[in-house]
Amino acid sequence: MTQVLTSNFKRANIFGYPVDIVTCEDILKFTLEKIKSNQGMHVVTINPEIISAADKNPELARIIREAELVIPDSTGVMLAIASLGDSSAEKIPGIEFSEKLMKKCEGKGVKTAFLGGSPDIVNKMNTEIQKRFPGLNVVFSHHGYFNESQISCIRQELVELAPDLLFVALGCPKQEFFIKQHRNLLPKTVMIGVGGSFDVWAKKVKRAPVFFRISGLEWFYRLITQPSRFRRMFPALPLFFLRIILDRRSLFYN
Ligand code: UDP
Repeated sequence: MTQVLTSNFKRANIFGYPVDIVTCEDILKFTLEKIKSNQGMHVVTINPEIISAADKNPELARIIREAELVIPDSTGVMLAIASLGDSSAEKIPGIEFSEKLMKKCEGKGVKTAFLGGSPDIVNKMNTEIQKRFPGLNVVFSHHGYFNESQISCIRQELVELAPDLLFVALGCPKQEFFIKQHRNLLPKTVMIGVGGSFDVWAKKVKRAPVFFRISGLEWFYRLITQPSRFRRMFPALPLFFLRIILDRRSLFYN
């Protein structure tokens, strides 16, 4: 029997949720090893909005705690880690990790699949992904607005294709529930919830300019360019920062 590859990354516990203290190189290597050895896993990219949603949804909380890899995708989570005195952690936006992973998978025959986004977005994204990663072996791509009867066809196709890598962009918590429900059906698939990344890859939404990214203000840029996010980000974001100051006992290493 093949040995299950487990990461031995240092894990922080941030208000009850695991966060791996990793570099992008670490997780690229680990994910490629998982793919090579035909072992699936769930990768969560965690931020204060997801933590706030999980606090209100025990099923989502359980899924996050069971994920093999939980990567810090946001400035808020990085601040929580920094308050533990850890400077080795790297903020790894899910979109950047996914792009680097696609680059590494080019020319290797890694069966790659995409699920999510609106129908027009998926078509545009396919074209852009093909341009950016011509050596990527894309075996499946479908929009994320499906009904009950369509989901069984999608499921059947995915099971038959058994992709090595599946990017799921249904937003949180939908994508996390989808991944959890399909783990047993797709045991060899590395599944990553990537939120709004398809919109960026399709060039419908722009990522924050470098200044906002390096100064940790990407959230602010998203807020001013997509004011519809306001209700989701508030009060989750300010409360998260307050909690870092007031609830230090809930920040520790596992
Ligand atoms: N989406 C989808 N199906 C749904 C709901 C959402 O495919 O039923 C897609 C939506 O089109 C968008 C992505 O999921 O591309 C969610 O993006 P958002 O920025 O809201 O995600 P977040 O990163 O905030 O979780």
